[in-house]
Amino acid sequence: MNVFLLVIATTVALFILNYFFYKTNNNIQYFEVLANSILIATTFYLIYITQRNSTNKSGFYYYTSIGFAFLYFALLILTLDHIYEYNKDVVKIAVKLLFVFGYSLLAIGVSKWVRYNEMRQGELAVQASTDELTGILNRRSFTSFIKLEFINAKKNFSPFSLAIIDIDYFKQVNDEYGHLVGDEILIDLANLMKSSFRSTDKVCRWGGEEFAILLPGTSLPNAVSAIDHFRQKIENHEYQSSSNTIKYTISAGVSESLTIDKNIDDLIKRADEALYKAKSSNRNCVRSARS
Ligand code: GH3
Ligand code: MG
Ligand code: MG
Repeated sequence: MNVFLLVIATTVALFILNYFFYKTNNNIQYFEVLANSILIATTFYLIYITQRNSTNKSGFYYYTSIGFAFLYFALLILTLDHIYEYNKDVVKIAVKLLFVFGYSLLAIGVSKWVRYNEMRQGELAVQASTDELTGILNRRSFTSFIKLEFINAKKNFSPFSLAIIDIDYFKQVNDEYGHLVGDEILIDLANLMKSSFRSTDKVCRWGGEEFAILLPGTSLPNAVSAIDHFRQKIENHEYQSSSNTIKYTISAGVSESLTIDKNIDDLIKRADEALYKAKSSNRNCVRSARS
Protein backbone atom coordinates (compact mmCIF):
# COMPACT_ATOMS: atom_id res chain seq x y z
CA MET A 1 0.00 0.00 0.00
CA ASN A 2 1.42 3.39 -1.01
CA VAL A 3 0.63 5.55 2.01
CA PHE A 4 2.19 8.59 0.38
CA LEU A 5 -0.17 8.56 -2.64
CA LEU A 6 -3.15 7.79 -0.39
CA VAL A 7 -2.29 10.85 1.72
CA ILE A 8 -2.09 13.11 -1.35
CA ALA A 9 -5.43 11.84 -2.71
CA THR A 10 -7.18 12.24 0.65
CA THR A 11 -5.74 15.75 1.11
CA VAL A 12 -7.05 16.84 -2.30
CA ALA A 13 -10.48 15.31 -1.53
CA LEU A 14 -10.56 17.09 1.86
CA PHE A 15 -9.80 20.46 0.28
CA ILE A 16 -12.49 20.01 -2.38
CA LEU A 17 -15.01 18.91 0.27
CA ASN A 18 -14.21 21.91 2.50
CA TYR A 19 -14.33 24.34 -0.38
CA PHE A 20 -17.83 23.30 -1.40
CA PHE A 21 -19.48 22.40 1.91
CA TYR A 22 -18.03 24.65 4.63
CA LYS A 23 -18.10 28.35 5.23
CA THR A 24 -14.76 30.13 5.85
CA ASN A 25 -14.09 31.73 9.22
CA ASN A 26 -14.30 35.49 9.46
CA ASN A 27 -11.22 35.99 11.59
CA ILE A 28 -8.56 33.48 10.51
CA GLN A 29 -5.58 33.23 12.88
CA TYR A 30 -2.84 33.40 10.28
CA PHE A 31 0.02 32.68 12.67
CA GLU A 32 -1.61 29.38 13.78
CA VAL A 33 -2.27 28.45 10.16
CA LEU A 34 1.31 29.22 9.15
CA ALA A 35 2.89 27.32 12.08
CA ASN A 36 0.64 24.31 11.42
CA SER A 37 1.42 24.43 7.71
CA ILE A 38 5.14 24.09 8.49
CA LEU A 39 4.40 21.08 10.72
CA ILE A 40 2.19 19.60 7.99
CA ALA A 41 4.93 20.04 5.38
CA THR A 42 7.49 18.39 7.71
CA THR A 43 5.17 15.45 8.45
CA PHE A 44 4.41 15.13 4.74
CA TYR A 45 8.14 14.88 4.06
CA LEU A 46 8.50 12.23 6.80
CA ILE A 47 5.71 10.18 5.20
CA TYR A 48 7.50 10.52 1.87
CA ILE A 49 10.90 9.32 3.07
CA THR A 50 9.53 6.48 5.23
CA GLN A 51 7.29 5.29 2.40
CA ARG A 52 10.15 5.47 -0.10
CA ASN A 53 12.12 2.97 2.04
CA SER A 54 9.16 0.73 2.81
CA THR A 55 10.74 -2.32 1.15
CA ASN A 56 12.79 -2.70 4.33
CA LYS A 57 11.87 -5.99 6.00
CA SER A 58 11.88 -4.72 9.57
CA GLY A 59 8.35 -3.28 9.20
CA PHE A 60 9.71 -0.04 10.59
CA TYR A 61 8.88 2.08 7.57
CA TYR A 62 5.46 0.55 7.15
CA TYR A 63 4.34 1.40 10.67
CA THR A 64 6.06 4.78 10.81
CA SER A 65 4.68 5.98 7.46
CA ILE A 66 1.11 5.14 8.56
CA GLY A 67 1.84 6.68 11.99
CA PHE A 68 3.05 9.89 10.34
CA ALA A 69 -0.03 9.87 8.08
CA PHE A 70 -2.29 9.88 11.16
CA LEU A 71 -0.34 12.81 12.64
CA TYR A 72 -0.50 14.56 9.28
CA PHE A 73 -4.30 14.35 9.18
CA ALA A 74 -4.57 15.48 12.81
CA LEU A 75 -2.52 18.58 11.93
CA LEU A 76 -4.46 19.13 8.70
CA ILE A 77 -7.82 19.05 10.50
CA LEU A 78 -6.47 21.43 13.17
CA THR A 79 -5.42 23.84 10.43
CA LEU A 80 -8.64 23.54 8.45
CA ASP A 81 -10.48 24.18 11.70
CA HIS A 82 -8.88 27.64 11.71
CA ILE A 83 -9.95 28.33 8.16
CA TYR A 84 -13.46 26.81 8.05
CA GLU A 85 -16.34 26.77 10.49
CA TYR A 86 -16.37 23.25 11.89
CA ASN A 87 -18.22 21.55 14.72
CA LYS A 88 -15.62 22.08 17.48
CA ASP A 89 -16.44 18.93 19.50
CA VAL A 90 -16.15 16.61 16.52
CA VAL A 91 -12.82 18.21 15.57
CA LYS A 92 -11.47 17.81 19.11
CA ILE A 93 -12.31 14.10 19.26
CA ALA A 94 -11.09 13.41 15.71
CA VAL A 95 -7.76 15.16 16.29
CA LYS A 96 -7.17 13.41 19.63
CA LEU A 97 -7.93 9.99 18.10
CA LEU A 98 -5.64 10.65 15.15
CA PHE A 99 -2.82 11.69 17.51
CA VAL A 100 -3.35 8.59 19.70
CA PHE A 101 -3.26 6.20 16.72
CA GLY A 102 -0.42 8.11 15.05
CA TYR A 103 1.89 8.07 18.07
CA SER A 104 1.05 4.43 18.88
CA LEU A 105 2.00 3.35 15.36
CA LEU A 106 5.18 5.43 15.54
CA ALA A 107 6.07 3.72 18.83
CA ILE A 108 5.59 0.27 17.26
CA GLY A 109 7.60 1.31 14.19
CA VAL A 110 10.51 2.72 16.19
CA SER A 111 10.69 -0.32 18.49
CA LYS A 112 10.76 -2.56 15.41
CA TRP A 113 13.52 -0.40 13.99
CA VAL A 114 15.60 -0.68 17.19
CA ARG A 115 15.19 -4.47 17.24
CA TYR A 116 16.06 -4.75 13.54
CA ASN A 117 19.18 -2.62 14.05
CA GLU A 118 20.35 -4.79 16.95
CA MET A 119 19.88 -7.92 14.86
CA ARG A 120 21.64 -6.37 11.85
CA GLN A 121 24.56 -5.26 13.99
CA GLY A 122 24.92 -8.82 15.26
CA GLU A 123 24.85 -10.16 11.70
CA LEU A 124 27.45 -7.64 10.54
CA ALA A 125 29.73 -8.48 13.47
CA VAL A 126 29.53 -12.20 12.57
CA GLN A 127 30.13 -11.44 8.88
CA ALA A 128 33.15 -9.28 9.68
CA SER A 129 34.75 -11.91 11.91
CA THR A 130 34.08 -15.13 10.00
CA ASP A 131 35.41 -16.70 6.84
CA GLU A 132 32.68 -16.81 4.19
CA LEU A 133 33.40 -20.32 2.90
CA THR A 134 34.03 -22.27 6.09
CA GLY A 135 32.15 -20.20 8.67
CA ILE A 136 35.07 -20.29 11.14
CA LEU A 137 37.01 -17.19 12.28
CA ASN A 138 38.81 -15.24 9.60
CA ARG A 139 42.45 -14.26 9.92
CA ARG A 140 41.75 -10.70 11.07
CA SER A 141 39.54 -11.63 14.02
CA PHE A 142 41.79 -14.59 14.87
CA THR A 143 44.79 -12.24 14.98
CA SER A 144 43.00 -10.06 17.51
CA PHE A 145 42.53 -13.18 19.68
CA ILE A 146 46.27 -13.92 19.43
CA LYS A 147 47.01 -10.33 20.50
CA LEU A 148 44.69 -10.68 23.50
CA GLU A 149 46.27 -14.00 24.47
CA PHE A 150 49.72 -12.48 24.01
CA ILE A 151 48.90 -9.73 26.55
CA ASN A 152 47.32 -12.28 28.94
CA ALA A 153 50.34 -14.57 28.71
CA LYS A 154 52.72 -11.72 29.55
CA LYS A 155 50.59 -10.69 32.53
CA ASN A 156 49.95 -14.16 33.96
CA PHE A 157 53.19 -15.89 32.86
CA SER A 158 51.07 -18.63 31.27
CA PRO A 159 52.24 -19.92 27.90
CA PHE A 160 50.02 -20.44 24.90
CA SER A 161 50.66 -22.06 21.54
CA LEU A 162 49.87 -21.39 17.93
CA ALA A 163 49.64 -23.96 15.14
CA ILE A 164 49.48 -23.30 11.42
CA ILE A 165 48.06 -26.18 9.41
CA ASP A 166 48.40 -26.60 5.65
CA ILE A 167 46.68 -29.21 3.48
CA ASP A 168 49.24 -31.31 1.61
CA TYR A 169 49.24 -31.27 -2.19
CA PHE A 170 45.96 -29.38 -2.26
CA LYS A 171 46.61 -28.11 -5.76
CA GLN A 172 46.47 -31.76 -6.92
CA VAL A 173 43.09 -32.21 -5.18
CA ASN A 174 41.75 -29.20 -7.08
CA ASP A 175 43.23 -30.42 -10.34
CA GLU A 176 41.87 -33.95 -9.92
CA TYR A 177 38.39 -33.29 -8.50
CA GLY A 178 37.73 -29.65 -9.36
CA HIS A 179 37.72 -26.41 -7.41
CA LEU A 180 34.23 -26.97 -5.96
CA VAL A 181 35.23 -30.28 -4.39
CA GLY A 182 38.37 -28.46 -3.17
CA ASP A 183 36.07 -25.99 -1.42
CA GLU A 184 34.10 -28.87 0.11
CA ILE A 185 37.31 -30.29 1.56
CA LEU A 186 38.17 -26.91 3.09
CA ILE A 187 34.73 -26.89 4.74
CA ASP A 188 35.22 -30.53 5.84
CA LEU A 189 38.55 -29.73 7.49
CA ALA A 190 37.14 -26.61 9.17
CA ASN A 191 34.27 -28.65 10.63
CA LEU A 192 36.68 -31.32 11.88
CA MET A 193 38.84 -28.64 13.49
CA LYS A 194 35.84 -27.09 15.21
CA SER A 195 34.73 -30.42 16.66
CA SER A 196 38.20 -31.74 17.56
CA PHE A 197 39.59 -29.00 19.79
CA ARG A 198 38.56 -27.60 23.17
CA SER A 199 35.92 -24.89 23.17
CA THR A 200 38.54 -22.46 24.51
CA ASP A 201 40.82 -23.10 21.51
CA LYS A 202 40.25 -20.81 18.55
CA VAL A 203 40.31 -22.13 15.01
CA CYS A 204 40.56 -19.97 11.91
CA ARG A 205 41.03 -20.01 8.17
CA TRP A 206 44.47 -18.47 7.88
CA GLY A 207 44.13 -18.11 4.11
CA GLY A 208 43.79 -20.38 1.06
CA GLU A 209 44.25 -23.97 2.24
CA GLU A 210 45.92 -22.92 5.48
CA PHE A 211 44.28 -22.93 8.89
CA ALA A 212 45.45 -21.88 12.34
CA ILE A 213 44.67 -22.89 15.91
CA LEU A 214 45.27 -20.89 19.06
CA LEU A 215 45.69 -23.06 22.15
CA PRO A 216 45.51 -20.90 25.29
CA GLY A 217 47.34 -22.15 28.40
CA THR A 218 49.07 -24.88 26.40
CA SER A 219 52.82 -25.49 26.40
CA LEU A 220 54.67 -26.52 23.25
CA PRO A 221 54.90 -30.31 23.93
CA ASN A 222 51.19 -30.48 24.76
CA ALA A 223 50.27 -28.41 21.69
CA VAL A 224 52.44 -30.59 19.41
CA SER A 225 50.81 -33.69 20.81
CA ALA A 226 47.25 -32.28 20.36
CA ILE A 227 47.98 -31.17 16.80
CA ASP A 228 49.62 -34.50 15.93
CA HIS A 229 46.58 -36.30 17.28
CA PHE A 230 44.47 -34.20 14.92
CA ARG A 231 46.85 -34.87 12.03
CA GLN A 232 46.40 -38.63 12.59
CA LYS A 233 42.66 -38.17 12.69
CA ILE A 234 42.78 -36.48 9.27
CA GLU A 235 45.11 -39.20 7.94
CA ASN A 236 42.49 -41.82 8.85
CA HIS A 237 39.55 -39.74 7.69
CA GLU A 238 37.80 -40.04 4.34
CA TYR A 239 35.85 -37.27 2.73
CA GLN A 240 32.86 -38.49 0.78
CA SER A 241 32.08 -36.15 -2.12
CA SER A 242 29.07 -36.77 -4.36
CA SER A 243 31.09 -39.11 -6.58
CA ASN A 244 34.41 -39.82 -4.85
CA THR A 245 35.95 -40.88 -1.58
CA ILE A 246 38.87 -38.54 -1.00
CA LYS A 247 41.71 -38.91 1.46
CA TYR A 248 43.98 -36.00 2.28
CA THR A 249 46.69 -35.18 4.79
CA ILE A 250 47.88 -32.08 6.60
CA SER A 251 51.20 -30.69 7.80
CA ALA A 252 51.52 -28.32 10.75
CA GLY A 253 53.99 -25.98 12.37
CA VAL A 254 53.62 -25.22 16.07
CA SER A 255 55.14 -22.44 18.16
CA GLU A 256 54.86 -21.39 21.79
CA SER A 257 54.77 -17.85 23.19
CA LEU A 258 58.10 -16.87 24.72
CA THR A 259 58.84 -14.11 27.22
CA ILE A 260 61.37 -12.65 24.79
CA ASP A 261 58.73 -12.24 22.04
CA LYS A 262 58.29 -8.57 21.21
CA ASN A 263 54.99 -9.06 19.43
CA ILE A 264 52.83 -11.77 17.88
CA ASP A 265 54.79 -11.63 14.62
CA ASP A 266 57.70 -13.45 16.36
CA LEU A 267 55.34 -16.27 17.36
CA ILE A 268 53.74 -16.46 13.90
CA LYS A 269 57.17 -16.48 12.25
CA ARG A 270 58.27 -19.50 14.34
CA ALA A 271 55.05 -21.39 13.50
CA ASP A 272 55.60 -20.59 9.81
CA GLU A 273 59.22 -21.79 9.92
CA ALA A 274 58.10 -24.98 11.67
CA LEU A 275 55.47 -25.54 8.96
CA TYR A 276 58.17 -25.10 6.34
CA LYS A 277 60.20 -27.79 8.14
CA ALA A 278 57.16 -30.12 8.12
CA LYS A 279 56.69 -29.54 4.38
CA SER A 280 60.39 -30.20 3.77
CA SER A 281 60.30 -33.53 5.62
CA ASN A 282 57.83 -35.42 3.48
CA ARG A 283 54.66 -33.67 4.75
CA ASN A 284 51.86 -35.31 6.83
CA CYS A 285 53.73 -34.41 10.01
CA VAL A 286 53.90 -31.81 12.80
CA ARG A 287 57.01 -29.76 13.53
CA SER A 288 57.99 -27.08 16.03
CA ALA A 289 61.11 -25.00 16.61
CA ARG A 290 62.36 -27.84 18.81
CA SER A 291 61.42 -30.87 16.69
P1 GH3 B 1 51.88 -28.26 -0.36
O1 GH3 B 1 51.79 -29.66 0.07
O2 GH3 B 1 53.29 -27.80 -0.56
O3 GH3 B 1 51.13 -27.35 0.54
O4 GH3 B 1 51.20 -28.20 -1.79
P2 GH3 B 1 49.85 -27.48 -2.17
O5 GH3 B 1 49.47 -27.94 -3.53
O6 GH3 B 1 48.84 -27.70 -1.11
O7 GH3 B 1 50.27 -25.99 -2.10
P3 GH3 B 1 50.27 -24.84 -3.17
O8 GH3 B 1 50.64 -23.61 -2.43
O9 GH3 B 1 51.12 -25.21 -4.36
O10 GH3 B 1 48.80 -24.76 -3.66
C1 GH3 B 1 47.77 -24.35 -2.83
C2 GH3 B 1 46.50 -24.56 -3.58
O11 GH3 B 1 45.38 -24.22 -2.76
C3 GH3 B 1 46.41 -23.74 -4.83
C4 GH3 B 1 45.10 -23.03 -4.73
O12 GH3 B 1 44.37 -23.09 -5.91
C5 GH3 B 1 44.37 -23.79 -3.64
N1 GH3 B 1 43.42 -22.95 -2.94
C6 GH3 B 1 43.66 -21.84 -2.21
N2 GH3 B 1 42.51 -21.33 -1.75
C7 GH3 B 1 41.50 -22.12 -2.20
C8 GH3 B 1 40.07 -22.11 -2.08
O13 GH3 B 1 39.48 -21.25 -1.43
N3 GH3 B 1 39.38 -23.11 -2.67
C9 GH3 B 1 40.00 -24.08 -3.40
N4 GH3 B 1 39.27 -25.03 -3.95
N5 GH3 B 1 41.34 -24.10 -3.55
C10 GH3 B 1 42.08 -23.14 -2.96
MG1 MG C 1 49.76 -23.32 1.45
MG1 MG D 1 49.17 -26.93 0.85
